[in-house]
Amino acid sequence: MSFKSDLDIVSSALEKYYDESVSGEKVTINQLPLKKIIKDLNLAYYIKNGNLTGENLSIFIQKYLEVTTRLHSQNFLAHQIAVPHFSGALGSLTDGFTNNIKAIYELGPGSTSIDYFLINWFLDKIGWNKAPTDMNIEDNFGKFGGGIFTHGGSLANLTALITARTKAVSDIWESGSPENLAILTPHSIHYSIERAAGILGIGQNSIYYLNSDSNGSIIPDEIEVTYNRVIKDNKIPIALIANGGCTAVGRYDPLEEIGLYCNDKKLWFHVDGAHGGSVLLSEKYKYLLNGISRADSVTWDAHKLLRTPSLCTALLFKNHIYIDHAFKQEASYLFHDREQPGVDFANRTVECSSSGLGLKFFMVLGAMGEDGLSKYIDRQIQLTYEAYEYIKATPGFKCAVEPQNNILCFRVEGNDKLQLNIRDKLISEGTYYISSTLFKGVRYLRLAIMNPDSNMENIHQLIERIKELK
Ligand SMILES: *Cc1c(COP(=O)(O)O)cnc(C)c1O
Repeated sequence: MSFKSDLDIVSSALEKYYDESVSGEKVTINQLPLKKIIKDLNLAYYIKNGNLTGENLSIFIQKYLEVTTRLHSQNFLAHQIAVPHFSGALGSLTDGFTNNIKAIYELGPGSTSIDYFLINWFLDKIGWNKAPTDMNIEDNFGKFGGGIFTHGGSLANLTALITARTKAVSDIWESGSPENLAILTPHSIHYSIERAAGILGIGQNSIYYLNSDSNGSIIPDEIEVTYNRVIKDNKIPIALIANGGCTAVGRYDPLEEIGLYCNDKKLWFHVDGAHGGSVLLSEKYKYLLNGISRADSVTWDAHKLLRTPSLCTALLFKNHIYIDHAFKQEASYLFHDREQPGVDFANRTVECSSSGLGLKFFMVLGAMGEDGLSKYIDRQIQLTYEAYEYIKATPGFKCAVEPQNNILCFRVEGNDKLQLNIRDKLISEGTYYISSTLFKGVRYLRLAIMNPDSNMENIHQLIERIKELK
């Protein structure tokens, strides 16, 4: 094995890739046909002959990098995916090399300890009690939070609803699921919630959509109307799910008032902060999540606004007992009777083997420091606000709502088809990569300003180009 020399090949290629992406020398997006990519990368050849090392590796990696979408380009303005800090990528590499899964402590003491420590870091940010690191917890059992890292926010949302369901129907693991479970949520919720409801056997007809205002945010005073409808229909509401930053336009539901309502009704309150939870790191913007500590569970992705390579999600609970009970009623706690120096996370998750997710995030947090990440978040939101002011003032352009984080939706005068045509043209040119979304039934062009190097100049040029294309 020539690990060091192959590593040098890969790292040199990545360095060149990064420089070309940042300088704009290469287009941001270049979607060649699948058939051509399979052929050009010589995939079948290597499967037959092996030897993907040395010079072959060098050729392969360079060709591969040519068919990637370049998140490191300043004109990558499309999706809520982290532009990964290189330290996070080194975390991925180290995790891949050591392959220490953390279902059970003995298979990954280091990765489990980092996860445990980071879960406490997240709990503290939300305003919940941290779990003790000594194993003697008899005295304050049930008085602290808990969590688990999952492969993505979608799986975290599913796990949160599984947990809420177990809490609502205590014999579910023995008797199966009743047919009359329901959830309450706004239309602006991420589709993973609807999908989770489907997986759990809660049909579409048992998703009760909450009334929302012109920004798409829940109207707290009108929750009661929907709640009463659930009860009148003889359904058991297992959870209310709100946005800690919605996907389409980034707006935050009023968590304090919603939380008060749920706490009063003893209704499970889940906050989907997959993207927007990270503003808790910002002194300036954390007010957007006021009331989040009233939640029972929170989903928070590090691979969105925390510069961490995908996937890395923290799923957090106000009380560790919820998640320790989630997958069976006869609880098997993290801290069990077996003599061992650490904890097993296996009981808290759908997954069996799971990679060292915390390590990737920790290496970013360690490299940038909390302060560095907080400045990054402030910068992205500030820039988004400037872009909003600029686009709003540009004749022929209209924004969907005032932004609250780094997501901004706008459209040009004309119908929905025009918006899609503009995006298609931009993408086929390749310089600018933006997304699009439906908001309240209307098609918008959408920016998620994730790249730490993007600036107003990129926005000005993008808008100029859109004017020429329309
Ligand atoms: C991205 C996102 C999700 C899904 O998370 P994945 O990590 O992509 O599975 C869920 N909810 C919100 C609000 C998101 O932004």
